[in-house]
Amino acid sequence: MAHDARYDVLFEGVKIGPVTTKNRFYQVPHCNGMGHRYPRAIAASRAVKAEGGWSVISTEECEIHPSSDVSPYIEARLWDEGDMERLALSVDAIHQHDALAAVELAHNGHHSLNRYSRLPTMGVSDMMVGSYDPQQAYAMSKKDIADVRQMHVDAAIRARDIGFDIIYCYAGHDLTLGQHFISRRHNKRTDEYGGSLENRVRFFREIIDATKSAVGDRCAIAVRFAVDELLGEDGIVSSDEGKDIVHMLAELPDLWDVNVADWANDSLTARFGEEGSQEKYTAFVKGATTKPVVGVGRFTSPDAMVSQIRRGILDLIGAARPSIADPFLPNKIEQGQLDDIRECIGCNICVSSDMLVQPLRCTQNPTTAEEYRRGWHPEKISSKHADEHIFIVGAGPAGLEAAMSLGRRGYDVTISEALSQAGGRALIESSLPGLSTWKRVVDYRLGQIEKLPNVNLYLESTLDADQAIEFSQELGVEHIVTATGSSWRSDGIGRTHFTAIKVADDAEIHTPEDVWSNSAQFENVKGGVVIYDDDLYYLGSVLAERLVELGTKVTVITPAPQVAQWTENTLEQQHIERRLFSLGVEILPSHTIREIKQQSLTLNRNNQDGEFSLEAEKVILVTSRNPENQLYHQLATQEARLRQANIPKVTRIGDCLAPSTIASAVYEGHRFAQEYEIKPDPHRIPFKREVIQIND
Ligand code: ADP
Ligand code: SF4
Repeated sequence: MAHDARYDVLFEGVKIGPVTTKNRFYQVPHCNGMGHRYPRAIAASRAVKAEGGWSVISTEECEIHPSSDVSPYIEARLWDEGDMERLALSVDAIHQHDALAAVELAHNGHHSLNRYSRLPTMGVSDMMVGSYDPQQAYAMSKKDIADVRQMHVDAAIRARDIGFDIIYCYAGHDLTLGQHFISRRHNKRTDEYGGSLENRVRFFREIIDATKSAVGDRCAIAVRFAVDELLGEDGIVSSDEGKDIVHMLAELPDLWDVNVADWANDSLTARFGEEGSQEKYTAFVKGATTKPVVGVGRFTSPDAMVSQIRRGILDLIGAARPSIADPFLPNKIEQGQLDDIRECIGCNICVSSDMLVQPLRCTQNPTTAEEYRRGWHPEKISSKHADEHIFIVGAGPAGLEAAMSLGRRGYDVTISEALSQAGGRALIESSLPGLSTWKRVVDYRLGQIEKLPNVNLYLESTLDADQAIEFSQELGVEHIVTATGSSWRSDGIGRTHFTAIKVADDAEIHTPEDVWSNSAQFENVKGGVVIYDDDLYYLGSVLAERLVELGTKVTVITPAPQVAQWTENTLEQQHIERRLFSLGVEILPSHTIREIKQQSLTLNRNNQDGEFSLEAEKVILVTSRNPENQLYHQLATQEARLRQANIPKVTRIGDCLAPSTIASAVYEGHRFAQEYEIKPDPHRIPFKREVIQIND
């Protein structure tokens, strides 16, 4: 199918210095948790994106020297010739699909803890390192400055020799020396590299100049610059120094890649920013330079992309997350398959992978980072091995993904759902404040299932074990899968409480389900509601927002030292805290519940003595979940009956096995479909490993 002519503009090439893109889809640098440690895995991931139509594929930040060692985070590395071979795997994979390869060279200055190299940390000034470690950076001498410039040049030459087409000079995310020198907050120097804006920009200008002289004849030189740090006068402001800097350096690079800092502001989750939310900061850049401009905004809609170009905001549509959720986004737009786009939901599970030093994960795309080790592909899946019929109970994220993927493989699939709509927790939670994009998890899968004649979905059909067996027998099913999800515990057991919290008979306690199944009972609650969050992810804070909407005063109590502690990993914690404060929600960190009474509870601070009480009419416990596995156990214990009915296999997947994130449920649904015929073997590692070779 051809695309609508109004999207033609997205498929025009753009000249960037000595190279030209084949279209306007540009995968900007993004962390991936694979970097220098899993070079084949990241190369295979990039190959899939190049195959999917991205005209430029960039690496994540690439350490240029052991004095910029950001271990344990796994980024790219070009410390010396020894690193070239690993990155060459990526470059070759990208070139095989006719895309351009970009590398984001970086020296992280005071953000380099040098945990592996143990070199002293250099910084623009004498200052604390960019973490909570008890360690300082020393102010770089003129010799250090010259050395770092040479490190950039050496790394750029290595990058060119590997075959990179675009080489970055990076001053963004508050992470690299380029930005640290520019920043008044960090730069306290009194020499020609400090003081006036001209002086503070000098270091970065010299890096760009030197890189250009070294490799600019063959490679395009890109500048990644954070035009606004969203810190007011403490930081770079786009209407002030941000603008001045772009004007000062306007024609120096071949490409401007612009965004906002820090990473938590750049990679805003859908809860805190809409598609295209950076436009208000970056829109001026096109007017300041004749060079092409790329920017990001979690773009998944081709109309929004075209609008960016038509209105002269961007020349190239930058994407990190949308390219992870759907590596084939450009091709799908080109071929007019808009219904098939797997839109990023803006949840930042991908970001959490880098933060937790693990290969990339994505809620929408379970195949990400599995291209090499498991041989998965986001658009292709092997055909069935036999004619079998699979019956899946529960149409949440796990059930829907399994049904869709098994269906694509050609298996007959029947899926039953108790409720009147499919989607499970993804659907239910999408009605909560800030989570409407969660519904994309459901919409994409239902849309695909509709196109598969061999997959049938039955709504409003709650089945017990007898009915499930009877129904399966009628259909000729070989395998029953329970994907029946989980429900929140009402006894408070979780990470902190290993036994039930003491609750008085006349106390009013609730689970999160009560908020969505009967929200009226939380309207204008006179005595206030306490949300006890021992789950530490997003739900406690989202429920607090919902209750404020209902006119109720809320206190969030958590045993963690800060509210929604785990969302540090999705870069949301500070945003959540700010929002709750602005809504008048009380936050009580480092507290556990001792007893819930009628209209009040008693608390412990940090599990120590010092009990005190707090008034609350209702308490909502967000602690942990019970797998809804009764159906599975009823089935699994009826071996004789199953044998009689010719149903040899029963499996449970997703939250009904082990409650976790929506991303995990989707992944487990997908893995089940991919490995349908493979008999689990505890003695076999179920994926290819990348093991360091010892050769000397
Ligand atoms: P997961 O994330 O593992 O997919 P969810 O809780 O999101 O789990 O989804 C489970 C789905 O299964 C829900 O939509 C729920 O209504 C449905 N379900 C649970 N028990 C049954 C049952 N016995 N029969 C049919 N559907 C069920
Ligand atoms: Fe988008 Fe979430 Fe996937 Fe990241 S994990 S790419 S935010 S859907």
